[in-house]
Amino acid sequence: MATNAIIHLENLGKNIKAARKRIGSSRKICLPVKADAYGHGAVPVSNYALKSGVDYLAVSGIYEGRELRKGGIKAPVLLLSQTLPEELLEIADLELIPIVSDEDFIKEAGRAAEKLNKELTVHLKIDTGMGRLGCSPEDALKLAKYICNSRKLKLGGIATHFPVSDSIIKNDIDYTKEQIRQFTNMISRIREAGINPGIVHAANTGALVFHEDSYFDMVRPGLFLYGYLPDSVEIGKTLSDTKPETDLPEVDPIMELRSVLVSIKKIKKGEAVSYGRTWTAKEDTHIGVIPTGYADGFPRGLSGNHSILIRDKAYPLAGRICMDLCMIDLGQRPEAERWDDATIFGPGFINASDMAEKINTIPYEITCNINKRVPRIYVES
Ligand SMILES: *Cc1c(COP(=O)(O)O)cnc(C)c1O
Repeated sequence: MATNAIIHLENLGKNIKAARKRIGSSRKICLPVKADAYGHGAVPVSNYALKSGVDYLAVSGIYEGRELRKGGIKAPVLLLSQTLPEELLEIADLELIPIVSDEDFIKEAGRAAEKLNKELTVHLKIDTGMGRLGCSPEDALKLAKYICNSRKLKLGGIATHFPVSDSIIKNDIDYTKEQIRQFTNMISRIREAGINPGIVHAANTGALVFHEDSYFDMVRPGLFLYGYLPDSVEIGKTLSDTKPETDLPEVDPIMELRSVLVSIKKIKKGEAVSYGRTWTAKEDTHIGVIPTGYADGFPRGLSGNHSILIRDKAYPLAGRICMDLCMIDLGQRPEAERWDDATIFGPGFINASDMAEKINTIPYEITCNINKRVPRIYVES
C-alpha cells in the first residue's frame, strides 16, 4: 500500500519511561487501548507496552476486550464503559474486569460469576464530577461493601475520572483538586470500614501532567503514552500568569502517516488544481500527487493549511484534499523525485496535535480516524 501508518514503538517505550519517571517505581501504569489503541493497533501496541513496563490495559467494551484475549494477551484488562448484563458471562469467562457503579449491575455480575462458578474481579467507579458513569460518593461505601459481600465477586479497585484535569485555568484546577479531595476521602472511609479498596486509580493524561496528588496506585494516561501532551502545555508557555513548570515531561508521538510521491507533473502559471479549483499556480511549477486523502483519515479541513515532508523539505498542499489523493506544490526545480517517501504527519514533523489545533479538534480524533484501509507497520527504531 502506498499509505501506511508507521507505528514507532521505540517512542512508546520512551513515553512509558517518562510516565514511570513521573509516578515512581511503586505505582502501576494502565494503558488505555480503546478504539484500537487510539488508532495505533490494540494488540501490537499492548504487547509492546506490556514488555515495556505497563501493567494494565483498558478498553471500552467486550468487543475490544475479546480482541485482546484472541490476540493472546493475558494482562488484566479493564472495561471502561458500562457493559451489558448479557455480556457478563463472557466477561467472566475471558477474565476481563468490568467497572461497576450500581447495585443492580453488581447483582447481575455476582449472578454471572456464580453461574460460571468463577471469581469475577470488578472495579467500582465513583463519579466525583465527570457526570458520566460512576456512583455518587455517598453510595460508594455501601456499594464497596455490597461487592465484598458477594460470594463470587472481588473488589479489585476503585476509580474516578476527571473532565478538566488538562486545563490550566484556575477554576478548572480547583475543580480537579476538589475531585481528588472527595475521592481521597471516600477511599479513606472505605478503608476505615475495613474494606480493602484494591487498586485506586484516577489519573488520565491531564492529571498525570498537572496533578501529582492524583496518582494513587495506578495512572491511566492514554494521550501521553501515545506521545502528546495536553494543548494547555503549549498555551501555558505563552501565558504570563501561569508559572512555567520546570520539569515538563518529554514525549514523542508514536504514529507517522507516510505515503509516496506517485506522480510529478508540470503545470503553467494560472492553471488550477483539484476540486473547486480553489488553488491556481502563481507561476509555472511542478505538482506532486500523493495517494492519501480524507478516506484515509487525512482531514479534508486541512486543505490549503498543511505541508508534506519529502527528503526533509516541507511542501504545501495545492488545492483541496480529495477522498484518496492530495496534491502538493513542488516548485520550479523540485528536489523530490517520483517514488520518494512522503510524510504527512509524524514525530519530528507536524504531528497529530499540531494538525488538530488547526481544525479545532483534538489529537485523539486525528489518530482514531486513520482508516482501517491504512496498514499499520510496527517499527522499533
Ligand atoms: C480514555 C480514558 C482515559 C485516558 O484518557 P487520556 O486523556 O487519553 O489520558 C482514562 N480514563 C478513562 C475512564 C478513559 O475513558
